[in-house]
Formats: sequence, structure tokens, C-alpha cells
Amino acid sequence: MSLQRGIMGGLPRAGAAYRRASGDADGYGGLLTIDLGAIARNWRRLSARVAPARASAVVKADAYGLGAHEVAPTLYRAGCRAFFVAHVEEGIKLRAVLPRDAEIIILHGAPARSEPDCDAYQLTPVLNCMEQLTAWIRFTSANGLKRRCVVQFDTGMTRFGFDLSEASSVAAALGMAGSRPSLVMSHLACADDPSAASNAVQRERLLDLRKLFPDTELSLAASSGIFLGPDYHLDLVRPGAALYGVNPAGTDPNPMESTIRLWGRIMQVREVPAGTEVGYGLAGRTKAATRLATVAVGYADGFFRSASGRASAWLGSKRLPLVGRVSMDSIVVDLAALPGPPLVPGDLLDLLGDAYGVDDLAADAGTIGYEILTGLSSRYWREYVE
Ligand SMILES: *Cc1c(COP(=O)(O)O)cnc(C)c1O
Repeated sequence: MSLQRGIMGGLPRAGAAYRRASGDADGYGGLLTIDLGAIARNWRRLSARVAPARASAVVKADAYGLGAHEVAPTLYRAGCRAFFVAHVEEGIKLRAVLPRDAEIIILHGAPARSEPDCDAYQLTPVLNCMEQLTAWIRFTSANGLKRRCVVQFDTGMTRFGFDLSEASSVAAALGMAGSRPSLVMSHLACADDPSAASNAVQRERLLDLRKLFPDTELSLAASSGIFLGPDYHLDLVRPGAALYGVNPAGTDPNPMESTIRLWGRIMQVREVPAGTEVGYGLAGRTKAATRLATVAVGYADGFFRSASGRASAWLGSKRLPLVGRVSMDSIVVDLAALPGPPLVPGDLLDLLGDAYGVDDLAADAGTIGYEILTGLSSRYWREYVE
């Protein structure tokens, strides 16, 4: 991944066609800025919302594509002390940028033979099944270690976690080893739908486990679960997507700040008559004489091909519809809506910003904001701003 920093003065203003005389970004088709200040403010907002429960941060998948090495230390400085990733390998990389008093929790648990890495890098595994639990107990007792562990129960999603019928065996096995979990967690299947009956059912099932794990903290809610209300906050919440600006509140207005802006570079501009066919399959067709810009961002950059014919580029609040299919490395944009001096090759159009955000592109592409974020290209020139 290319992580360029600096050149703060060179950032495009929102909505301004961006011309750069020279600079590090010149050779790039897409420019992505990631606002670490906005991510920190989103975390603080969620933290305040759930208090006295605590907020952790989910930074798996390279902080949803935004860069865990930049995002996690920012959140640590904001006060976050618990970080979730999916894999041991992600945890090892994260430890390099987080102090020892930050707990790094491995959602998928420790695969066989990765236990020594968990110990060396001080990673807390989530124990999801008997094989993981047995291996962890064997490893810690053989080495005389007292280490934290999290236990996950499947309260209805059927993905990760012990079956509820195994709860007493889990408690017994840990008890015999002189250990107990630092956290008991579960994950909601339908948190983005407040009317789903399964939410309350899953919550009740988790609360029932207090009988077997009386003094253990509980965690259930990810981003959307937080917005189901205080009943779902329990001791620790685990937001990911909301930190990065994806709307966690379903169809309600987004309470989070957007955290990224993406610009695409115009490579070529042409005047065309009405009825001009455009792109692969000649699937696009101009309705009137217009100017078309070919922009150097395509589906290989995470601009989903399924958004063909629906998505738009923007110049500020001026909507510039895509014409025809999204190619691997480019899109074609209709510039008819723009008055004023014509844009020229090298100028930048807004692809993600205030007018059109991650959730908007997701809707046009038939997916969710999560997939837009995690699909953001390593080909983009990246700049982190506070
Ligand atoms: C990914 C994940 C989260 C974070 O989910 P968001 O919806 O992005 O907030 C929390 N908990 C678990 C178990 C996860 O897998």
C-alpha cells in the first residue's frame, strides 16, 4: 500500500476542480484523503453515547481499508484502549504501533500453532470453539502463563462462537484451568433492523450467560447495535463501520461524520453529438450533444462495476452522471451539467465527498458501505489529514 504524507497545502478544496502544477500525486489516477480527526471525533461521539459502557474500536481489514497503522494510534490518543482485528497476523502488525496497555483482541481466535505469537505480541484470542479453548488452555498451562481470553457465544447468528449448550462445559474447562474470560461476547445478526425480533432474543441469550460467568463483562453491540439503544450497550461496544463514517442508523440520517474524500483524475475530454455510444458493449448512449470526460478510476480501484449507469461523479454539488459501463481503470462522465470554463485533462472530479458518500455509492452499486471502504484501492495516492 502506498502511504504518502504531507503536502497539506495541496489538498483540493471541496467542489473545486483541482489543478496541481506539480507534486507527488501527479502520476496517480485517484487521490484519497483520510481524515483522522473525523475518525477520532466519531469514536468520541460513540464513546459519549454509550457511557458508562466502554467503546472499543474494530480495526480489522486494515481499519476497513483506511489504514490501521494510522487509524489505531489516532484512536489510542483519543482514549481507546481495546482494539479488535480478525487475524493473529493483523494483531502482530498492529502491536508495532500500539503501546502495551492497548488490548488487541483477535476475533477469529488463534489458529493451531499461533499461540506463541499471541503470547509474544500480547494478543488476546477470542475462544470460539472447543478446539480453540483446549489448545489455549494447553498452551498457557504448559508455559505457566496467566493470559486474558475472550469467549464468544453464538446467540443466533450461526457464524462464530460456542453453542449455548456448551456453556457449562466452557465454564468448567476454564475453571479447572484456574482461568476465566475477561469478556463474554456475541454478535447480532440483524442489528441494522431495529424491528427484527432476533435482536432481543440474542440479547436475552447473552444475558442468561451471567449465571455461569457472574463477574464477567459482556459485549454484544457493533456499530448498528449501539443505535438499538442503551439496553444493547452492556459493558463494551465494538464499533467499526460507524467510526469510518458508514451510517449505523439504518434509514435515519447519518449521525457520523464522513471520513474520506476521493477524487478521480480526468485523462481526456471530448465533444460528442447526441446518440454517441460509449464504453464496453456500447452500453452507454448520449441523449444530447455534450462533453465527455474519461476519468482514471475503475472497478480495479473499488469503483464497483455494478454501479455502471447509476453512479455519478460530482463537481461540488453538480452531479455528473456516468455514461456506460465502469471499466477496470476508468469511467466516462457526462460534463453537460457544468457551466463555466471547460475542464481539461489533469483536473480532478469528486467521486466520494459531501454530495455523494460511501453509502450513496454503495446503494448505486447494490452493496453496503463496508464493501466500498474495504475495496478502496491501494493504487490511490493517499493522504492523511487531522
Ligand atoms: C466486524 C465486527 C464488528 C464491527 O462491526 P461494525 O458493524 O463494522 O461496527 C464487531 N464485532 C464483530 C464480531 C465483528 O466481526
